[in-house]
Amino acid sequence: LLSLEGVTKRFGSLVVADAVTLDLPRGQALGIIGPNGAGKSTLLNLIAGNLAPDQGQIRLNGRDVTGTSLTQRCRMGMGRAFQIPQTFSQLTVFETLLVAASQGRGISESEAAEDCVSILERTGLLDRANQVSGSLNLLQRKRLELARALATGPDLLLLDEIAGGLTEAECTSLVATIKELHSGGTTIVWIEHVLHALNSVVERLIVLDFGRVIQDGTPDTVMASREVQEIYLGIEA
Ligand code: ATP
Ligand code: MG
Repeated sequence: LLSLEGVTKRFGSLVVADAVTLDLPRGQALGIIGPNGAGKSTLLNLIAGNLAPDQGQIRLNGRDVTGTSLTQRCRMGMGRAFQIPQTFSQLTVFETLLVAASQGRGISESEAAEDCVSILERTGLLDRANQVSGSLNLLQRKRLELARALATGPDLLLLDEIAGGLTEAECTSLVATIKELHSGGTTIVWIEHVLHALNSVVERLIVLDFGRVIQDGTPDTVMASREVQEIYLGIEA
């Protein structure tokens, strides 16, 4: 579904993505971990089209999307949930999804309505549909951010630290929702510092360090590697 080939990005003399090559089959859930400043968010920005690479190629569904804009990539099937929810606080939950669906897919709000109801169900927000998003608690805001990304109709769902700041119980409940989406066939790339949440969903984990992929494998294998043990020693295992 997604493939990166030799994707390189520099900020001045700092190499933040160093010839990253990666193939993501449809249906897979891929986790990305690594120390602060390793280049995780930058890589997600390169995939989503917020940033253009200096070198390399990004393909989605077999099409070269390297030179395309954020909006074009959204219409071609990338949906992204941000760490800080990108929602208008005065809109209701349902209105937020209608806007995301119509903007992200180029369809009318009435065409999008049925699908938005189904997304409310799948993200556990049906009982909040008419509540303004500014009145939601953190877990509900995270659910809405997930729903907003889904409303754009993505083939590929990009998640950026969605589990952060939640209590253990809230985290478990959000993870259950993401697991269900994944079992339903959604392809996911997920950056996360809450490793136990991430590893309970993804079947593949990569580790970035200084912009390079230094590990790529199943969560069990990668977590047991010396590189990861060194990076996360004393933080979380
Ligand atoms: P964290 O875990 O803290 O979120 P990260 O792995 O997401 O870290 P990035 O945000 O991708 O790291 O940043 C990688 C490096 O690039 C950092 O050293 C950061 O300071 C630098 N950087 C990020 N964006 C820019 C920018 N627009 N201009 C210059 N340097 C940048
Ligand atoms: Mg980051």
